[in-house]
Amino acid sequence: MTNSSMFDVVTVGGGMGASALAIAMARSGARVLVLEKETKFRDRVRGEALAPWGVAEARKLGVADLLLNTCAKEVPWVEMGFGPRNLMETTPQREPFYSYSHPEMQEVLLAEAGRAGAEVRRGVTVEAVEPRGNLSATGEGTYASVTARNGNTIKVWARLVVGVDGRGSAVRRWGGFAVEKSPLAFQFAGVQLTGVRWREDLATFIFNPDAGMVLGMVPQTKGRWRSYLGYPRESGLALQGDDKLKTFLAEAARAVPIMAAAYANVESIGPLASFDVSESWAPHPFRGGIALIGDAAGTSDPSFGQGMGTALRDARVLRDALLRNPDWDNAGHEYAQEHDIYFQNCHKVCGWLRTLFQDPSAQAAALRHKAMPKIAEDLMRVPDHLFSGPDLPADEAVRARLFGEC
Ligand SMILES: Cc1cc2nc3c(=O)[nH]c(=O)nc-3n(C[C@H](O)[C@H](O)[C@H](O)COP(=O)(O)OP(=O)(O)OC[C@H]3O[C@@H](n4cnc5c(N)ncnc54)[C@H](O)[C@@H]3O)c2cc1C
Repeated sequence: MTNSSMFDVVTVGGGMGASALAIAMARSGARVLVLEKETKFRDRVRGEALAPWGVAEARKLGVADLLLNTCAKEVPWVEMGFGPRNLMETTPQREPFYSYSHPEMQEVLLAEAGRAGAEVRRGVTVEAVEPRGNLSATGEGTYASVTARNGNTIKVWARLVVGVDGRGSAVRRWGGFAVEKSPLAFQFAGVQLTGVRWREDLATFIFNPDAGMVLGMVPQTKGRWRSYLGYPRESGLALQGDDKLKTFLAEAARAVPIMAAAYANVESIGPLASFDVSESWAPHPFRGGIALIGDAAGTSDPSFGQGMGTALRDARVLRDALLRNPDWDNAGHEYAQEHDIYFQNCHKVCGWLRTLFQDPSAQAAALRHKAMPKIAEDLMRVPDHLFSGPDLPADEAVRARLFGEC
């Protein structure tokens, strides 16, 4: 091991979660290396609406103003079919949505990681991570190691390797993490549009449970919009590829008829792609000198837009644990314990909301029949985790109130 190949933190991946952590740790004086396989970020159809509680996390990490001054637009209002709601007046964080093009946001944060003092290597694909303790008795056993390739093989060591390599995380596998899965029978499609006729300060998320659909539409900078459509897999729609744009728009208007006018003159300016929304997560995402954060630690159903807030929360919670605890093993375990609580809260509440607002089955319809009249009388029955964050209670009393059982 040479000095130039040893780091405090090495991140596998240079997306939102990795860059946020790299910025925070480099600003605190840690020696950080970011390894990102893409030389230029492109539109992979990802999250572009950061919920108010996620904006608060960005603020705690010191990147909220950076986002706003470079790529983000504030979207204070949300419409979920109950009338417009001002999030800046009604969330505990008093924050709006931040909306941006995902690849533009990634470029901004990764450049900032470099400015903060992290070493950023792009076009580098990590091929293996060896947990701490698996190596020889040369002293290397106290570090985790990373093998990567950009033409040549590179080997580096770190006190902490952070797997931030997204939904299909290989670090989960290399680190020997257990993985739990929750299969879900829905797909979620997205495409970037121009020419949408709609309020430019309003994010729209409307469920149509009879069709098993959810429509999302969020304004961005430069007249662009990110549009999403969630649909049951058994519909066979398979909204994938440019030739499916007409079907995407027609199905969106079928799910929410007022969209027909909003989408009358749109053009797509990016790929149209669909994703399986099934959730998967690594319980206790720390072992052997490897921490998982972001989608690598837990991939939530994108229909509920919690992934980026969670990636930022992970980066912030891990940073705080590392800075307050000189023993990084203890810090890793503290992070992992906290992660399990808020990720599972999100998982549980999204499950309730999916049943009540999206599931077209007869059982779910019966639950709606009981719950919806009471919700119409009192909207506060709907838990506000999607906007106000996963620290709100998610206990039996909250569930019973949502389903109109009390
Ligand atoms: C259709 C869709 C809509 C969504 N909508 C929302 C939304 O509205 N709001 C919200 O909050 N969230 C949303 N999400 C979720 C959100 O996009 C993710 O949670 C978020 O992007 C996760 O960030 P990350 O940094 O963990 O992973 P990623 O963004 O996936 O970044 C991983 C990075 O690792 C790199 N990488 C991977 N493997 C390697 C390797 N071996 N070596 C080097 N580099 C590697 C990749 O190139 C990539 O840059 C949505 C997701 C989808 C799919």
